[in-house]
Amino acid sequence: MRRDQLEPDRRRSARVDPGADRGRSGGVLFDAVLLDRDGTLVEDVPYNGEPEKVRPMPGAREALDRLRAAGLRLGVVTNQSGLARGCFTAGQMGRVHARIEELLGPFDTWQVCPHDDGAGCGCRKPAPGLVRAAAADLGTTPGRCVVVGDIGRDMTAALAAGASGVLVPTPVTRAEEVAAAPHTAPTLPAAVAEILRRQAAVVPAVPGTAGTVLVVRSDSAGDVLVTGPGIRAVAAHARRVVLLCGPRGRAAAGLLPGVDEVVEWPLEWIDPNPAPVDPQRIGRLVRRLAAVGADEAVIFTSFHQSPLPLALLLRLAGVPRIAAISDDYPGSLLDVRHRVPSGVPEPERALSLAAAAGHALPTDDEPRLRLRRDTVPAAPSQLGPPGYVVVHPGSSASARACPPELAARIVRVLADAGHRVVVTGGPGERELTARVAAAGGTDLGGRTGLAELAGIIADAGALVVGNTGPAHLAAALGTPVVSLFAPTVPFGQWGPYRVPTVRLGDADAPCRDTRSAGCPVAGHPCLAGVDPAAVLDAVRLLGVPTSGAARAGADGVVGADDMGGGPPALAVPAGRGSGR
Ligand SMILES: [Zn+2]
Repeated sequence: MRRDQLEPDRRRSARVDPGADRGRSGGVLFDAVLLDRDGTLVEDVPYNGEPEKVRPMPGAREALDRLRAAGLRLGVVTNQSGLARGCFTAGQMGRVHARIEELLGPFDTWQVCPHDDGAGCGCRKPAPGLVRAAAADLGTTPGRCVVVGDIGRDMTAALAAGASGVLVPTPVTRAEEVAAAPHTAPTLPAAVAEILRRQAAVVPAVPGTAGTVLVVRSDSAGDVLVTGPGIRAVAAHARRVVLLCGPRGRAAAGLLPGVDEVVEWPLEWIDPNPAPVDPQRIGRLVRRLAAVGADEAVIFTSFHQSPLPLALLLRLAGVPRIAAISDDYPGSLLDVRHRVPSGVPEPERALSLAAAAGHALPTDDEPRLRLRRDTVPAAPSQLGPPGYVVVHPGSSASARACPPELAARIVRVLADAGHRVVVTGGPGERELTARVAAAGGTDLGGRTGLAELAGIIADAGALVVGNTGPAHLAAALGTPVVSLFAPTVPFGQWGPYRVPTVRLGDADAPCRDTRSAGCPVAGHPCLAGVDPAAVLDAVRLLGVPTSGAARAGADGVVGADDMGGGPPALAVPAGRGSGR
């Protein structure tokens, strides 16, 4: 069991080379930006072996210099199958790279896949090998890297490594690649501006300290889990943290580090099945909030939720300082009114609110989801050694659930390929899990609370799941995710955060951005069309062996040549020193 995933995160100093923490100069979120070469840094000239044909993309030099000035290291991650095909020599490529550095400035690492598709290597994008190797070479982890590229395989490689990704489309980028990307930017300079904006947004302008802070995140388990980094940022500067959550988020609240006390209360303006507003109940809530004795409140919300009704109650309860994200005019209800553009990952959205309130994550706390070590029990021994694949077919919202017959076919394909499959689900999903597990898995439906489910996911090689709470549990445990993601909400905002992930499903289905809880389209086409063989490929891309042997570290540093047993990548120094 990877108990280290549950600890206050010392992994960077423990697993990465001892000098790694010196490298954390870029900021809270990212150490490095890894760029695709052709079509991203320079114009795509197929199989170019001639330095004089190198043409930088517009604004590239200035954009890269902004990143360098901000303390971010730069790397290039590029497929050059022209080497394998004999279109140019390594020497010619070296001269091309020297020319690129002459025009665009130095890069701190060059990672080149010299193979073609037939080689079965672990480095050719969409495999994550180049991203992992670049991160290792820079003394950091993929989670602290952003990959910028122009096609879908750049984004797939980024996500499969656990890195962030920004797609800068060109005229040759396919529409479905644009739809599936976690983030897009119109140009390289715009991508750079967004990376720097995200980096700056989690750093307080004026750092503060606080006594008792009431933090709020209503709604379901996933919502509470993705708020974890923001709550830890508050907790780092507070004497005491009290979390107000709803009944559907109560179990997740108990797993979060930094929370001293939990107050459970359904909020009528958040709950999906709200009770009528009862003045007496509201009165009791105000008295309960007053009893917390908070010096400050930070109301975390999703982008479609309003913090203002609660802010009013907190004012009535006498809370002197209230911070929240609100596009709606707050009048005197908020002391810190924060605003966030859409599409920002939820954990970063929460971190940016904490920062606006004066609280940043300490430098030794990675901005990833995390659980309290003492709350996660061991997986049941009947499951055998770590490395099984968990399939979780249900969801808190049916629009985001995997169709049962597809889940069953996925279980069968995985089992036939030699994976040990475990099927999980909540108490109300026993019938569903029994049906799905009958295709070849162990049925644990209804037999786990959230903490027990976390224990099972902690030992999994991968989790196959829709956009629902357990996906965020996996992110917190460092377990790779095959995300069957219904596009009702943005993937970049709600996808598994900073954990190796493969996204499947039609990103451009008609349900896109509808925020529907129930699928608004007959036949649930966004997920019904997923090919179970693609799930098997995804599990392979994430490095899960079929033998049941423990896999390599999830988001630790794994050399490119550890993947898939294929030939190793080239780490090619550019013509003149590349700063390595
Ligand atoms: Zn390769």
